[in-house]
Amino acid sequence: MITIKSPREVETMAAAGQIVAETLLLVGRHARPGISTAELDDLAEEFIGSHPGARPSFKGLYDFPKSLCTSINNEVVHGIPSRERVLEEGDILSVDCGVCLDGLHADSATTLAIGNVSDEAQRLMLITREALEAGLAAAKADNRVGDIGYAVQQVVEAAGFNVVRELVGHGIGTSFHEGPQVPNYGKPKRGARLTKGMTIAIEPMVNIGGPEIHTLGDKWTVVTRDGTLSAHFEHTVVILDDGNQILTVAPAATPA
Ligand code: MG
Ligand code: MG
Repeated sequence: MITIKSPREVETMAAAGQIVAETLLLVGRHARPGISTAELDDLAEEFIGSHPGARPSFKGLYDFPKSLCTSINNEVVHGIPSRERVLEEGDILSVDCGVCLDGLHADSATTLAIGNVSDEAQRLMLITREALEAGLAAAKADNRVGDIGYAVQQVVEAAGFNVVRELVGHGIGTSFHEGPQVPNYGKPKRGARLTKGMTIAIEPMVNIGGPEIHTLGDKWTVVTRDGTLSAHFEHTVVILDDGNQILTVAPAATPA
């Protein structure tokens, strides 16, 4: 179902989004060789819980056991934080975080370089970030979800990479996943129409190699089928008449 949010609901989602953004910054400051993904998850869970009315969206969502998704290198999304997964120099780490504040969700993801990473990994992260920017630029009232997917896909394929097709962005609000689906591929002027007050998560997942993925035996971790690196960047936005407002941003004055 596609829902239109009131200004008051958007305000709450922006407050949730601020916590998400600050959580990702916190994780980014601690993500270095030698730390486990479970330690990062502990930091995130404690930080989110320190805000009255806030909880991690992911914990318990479809029975997911942790507060963050942490996906390393060839892992695309939905990696489960673990004491056994210790970050190494040269890894790339995708961190996905959702926060529910007073019943409304916000969702954002980023991919971090752990120490010095290869030129190829750096380029993948750059292109995926640019693909998100292109998708954001197409997210405005009277455009359609196909315009977003097309914009993302153009950037990614021009760089010689591929978008994951089986996993998509989504509407978000009182439910973490609402309509419409927001694929990272598509045709201009196709799909659901965007209208003022819709809130959606735009989230390109980009593979250096082929677009194919599969899910590991833990039933969660999604990896690239060919073992190549994958990156993931995501923001939650509210659609406005002349563009959108990103809700998952930290206030400018966030202390380092
Ligand atoms: Mg997410
Ligand atoms: Mg999402």
